[in-house]
Amino acid sequence: MCIQLFPNPPPRTRYAAIAELLSSLGEPAYRLSQLVRAVHRTGTTEYAQLSALPRRVRSSLIEAFGPTFADLRPIARQSGDQVEKTLFENDNGARIETVLARYRTGWTSLCLSTQVGCGLGCTFCATGAVGLVRNLSADEICDQVLYHQQQGPVDSIAFMGMGEALANPHTFPALDVLTHPDYFGLSPRRITVSTVGFAPGLQRLVDSHPQVNVTLSVHSPFPAERSTLIPLEGRFPLASCLAILDQHVAETRRKTYLAYLLIDGVNDSPAHATALASLVNSRDQPRLFHVSVIPYNDAVGVTPAYRRPSAARVAEFLRTLRSANVRATQRQQFGGALDAACGQLHAQYLSSAPAPAADRRRLPITAG
Ligand code: SF4
Repeated sequence: MCIQLFPNPPPRTRYAAIAELLSSLGEPAYRLSQLVRAVHRTGTTEYAQLSALPRRVRSSLIEAFGPTFADLRPIARQSGDQVEKTLFENDNGARIETVLARYRTGWTSLCLSTQVGCGLGCTFCATGAVGLVRNLSADEICDQVLYHQQQGPVDSIAFMGMGEALANPHTFPALDVLTHPDYFGLSPRRITVSTVGFAPGLQRLVDSHPQVNVTLSVHSPFPAERSTLIPLEGRFPLASCLAILDQHVAETRRKTYLAYLLIDGVNDSPAHATALASLVNSRDQPRLFHVSVIPYNDAVGVTPAYRRPSAARVAEFLRTLRSANVRATQRQQFGGALDAACGQLHAQYLSSAPAPAADRRRLPITAG
């Protein structure tokens, strides 16, 4: 199969544009990192308030880019005991959300979004029910991290919110910015990219950012059934994604994660667990694959027949995997009203103020 990968180069990031402007103004090379440090430290994104910078530089930035460094602003927040959801909007009204989880150990993990809605139509997903509105820019992806870092430390980042990260070509320059020592300076080992199996993007990710963690959604070991849950299976089969990961773990020895969403009466039988264990054990390096089992949560706008399995059913599924020597754990979830998959806050927003139908569309496979 010949696939054209991301044919259009993504536009420059804000960081590249500012670097170019500062260079044209004859500013010293350190000015950009000085600006980024000031934004992170002061908690403001208004250029006028960044007093660490010379006034002439602030004026030039405002003239070239407008008054603020960030393209997103927070418009709603829901806080629970351990989870905080934030809804963001840009100047065009596009809305996306983040979920910040605080673990009892003190670790904080930010789940961010890469698309407004999503066009891949997974039948268990609130975001898939919205449809794709558009890809986020690299700057909009990074702005989510910036906002939360201005509030406090963020220890790890997961590209697991709204959208299929690897179908958005802007994910890659966003990873460059997040790991750049002069900008966010995040270790790639503290970043996880989750995918339902967008194979061209997965190949690009393991080639360009081999130290970034990967989570591949499996959700069924049986191709026909998997395609009813994840329609992308028909275009990029699970087997092709696993072949990419086999090569990746052989080259890097990095542990790779397989997510398995457990839906009552759909994919939670002993036969599913046994087939999943066989799939893992048939890898070249099965000990480098770890299965994260995630019991389904009722979500807005999703197939009503899907239900959360009982705790006993989840335990039995895990037991079957482990008895076949598969490394498997239940992904930690948080209780209460915010115990929901990414995408719910936004879906609730859309249910009261829906996006124009004309803006919703299916994702072209060669995203660009
Ligand atoms: S699970 Fe991910 S890829 Fe599938 S519809 Fe939802 S956001 Fe899109």
